[in-house]
Amino acid sequence: MTKYIFLTGGVVSSVGKGVTAAALGRCLKNRGFRVAIQKLDPYINVDPGTMSPYQHGEVFVLDDGSETDLDLGHYERFIDASLSKVCNVTTGQIYSDVITQERRGDYLGGTIQVIPHITNEIKRRIQQVSRELQAEIVLVEVGGTVGDIESLPFLEALRQMRSEIGRENTVFIHVTWLPYIGATGELKTKPTQHSVRELRSIGISPDVIIARSDYSVEDDLRSKIALFCDVEMDAVIPLKTASAIYEVPLIFEENGLGRVVLRRLGLKEKHAPDWKEWRRLLKAIHSEKPEVRIGVVGKYIELKDAYMSVREAVNHASLTQGLSAKIIWYHSTDIEKGKGVEELETMDGIIVPGGFGSRGIEGKVTAAKIARENSIPYLGLCLGMQVQVIDFGRFVLGNDDVNSTEFDRNTKHPVIDLLPEQRGIGDLGGTMRLGLYPCKLDPDSIAGSVYEVDEVQERHRHRFEFNNTYREQFSKAGLRFSGQSPDGKLVEIVELADHPFMVGCQFHPEFLSRPQRPHPLFSGFIKAASLKAGIGS
Ligand code: GLN
Repeated sequence: MTKYIFLTGGVVSSVGKGVTAAALGRCLKNRGFRVAIQKLDPYINVDPGTMSPYQHGEVFVLDDGSETDLDLGHYERFIDASLSKVCNVTTGQIYSDVITQERRGDYLGGTIQVIPHITNEIKRRIQQVSRELQAEIVLVEVGGTVGDIESLPFLEALRQMRSEIGRENTVFIHVTWLPYIGATGELKTKPTQHSVRELRSIGISPDVIIARSDYSVEDDLRSKIALFCDVEMDAVIPLKTASAIYEVPLIFEENGLGRVVLRRLGLKEKHAPDWKEWRRLLKAIHSEKPEVRIGVVGKYIELKDAYMSVREAVNHASLTQGLSAKIIWYHSTDIEKGKGVEELETMDGIIVPGGFGSRGIEGKVTAAKIARENSIPYLGLCLGMQVQVIDFGRFVLGNDDVNSTEFDRNTKHPVIDLLPEQRGIGDLGGTMRLGLYPCKLDPDSIAGSVYEVDEVQERHRHRFEFNNTYREQFSKAGLRFSGQSPDGKLVEIVELADHPFMVGCQFHPEFLSRPQRPHPLFSGFIKAASLKAGIGS
């Protein structure tokens, strides 16, 4: 029998439900359970793939090519597993499926209603996770905040599941926020009480309350919450804002969350939790470390969530080398106007991450040029590889009119052009080259030496590619094609021959970086940055 843990959010959004689910997943995995985590998103989009990063933050891509919520990045990084498309469900997907079935005549003249048709489809998709990922415990996070109109069908489906599969197989965890009133210097529990009342009014009584706060939540407050929200005292778990998200599993451990959850589920841990590796990670996080300064030149930098996995991958690679990375964010439109250029030239490493559309593109090309001319280690991620190629064409080969057809349809030298299979595609949703594809490496290259294998599988999300018409010319001038699709048709990695580390990849290595297993390209980049900073050996 699969056990289910349902997580809801109360009081305000952004209380860290995603990290909470991921960290609890780790607590359970460390006790020997096979866990999977699913996110239910109440919005009507089929997936976040078509949403602006300003709206939604990063789009996290899975092995199977599904474009998902950034919380799936937390899940994968914390439980160190590869999730699948069944792990992110949206209202849009549910309705789209139900309406397709209705049009096919599957409902035999019935009236299609939220209950039972929509709720049944939600339950079916929740139950799909354990089958597909062979999970013994499935954690299900409901996006949004209790009280939102949009999330009601999801909550109703969870309520039904609890009565259908039994209380002993489900735990409801409510993650809430305790506001701090400066004038009286106290934390307030009233919004939590209201939010629990709201949950109760739809038939759900939480078993565990996670009390998020910027301040310590002492026992008197825990017992007050326990009393008013009708949960046991040890089921009120305080979670003060942590200085690093990777602390959260150990905070839960110290506060007994794993024990409380297993007790509710009637499970015995398979072995004592093993936190050795995790403690090593935290020790590395909190120790004094020499610093490398990494400039990230992006177009969505006002919202740091837009580059969540890039930031994490930089941190993983730095930590394992005993370094601390200070990321300095540059807006590509500022670089375009010359603002910040001088400072960027002093960085130990430069990253140009992925992106879409022409705004700020010239600033990104400039960033690649700065890295090339000043021998600054450079890592180009997807669009970052494409601008590296554009810089090379313009300033090494000396052709002014070099561009990607994404930014200039009529450019004389379309060195980056639409993938052939993308021609004629009109729909924007889910139609890019998505997910894992193999990449064969040149063993005598930087890429070959950092990966230490002949072939890798990497996650992709793009429509445009290096235009092979230019391969010979670019190669003669010193751009190495060090990674390609096994049939040799698609360029996957380019690097500059005469540079300490200037590597661009058409895929997104940041999605595969894990705290204990940094991605080889990020490790190689950080290593080169530390040499540039004069602290590496
Ligand atoms: N816009 C580019 C393309 O579609 C790059 C995409 C990306 O950076 N993910 O190919």
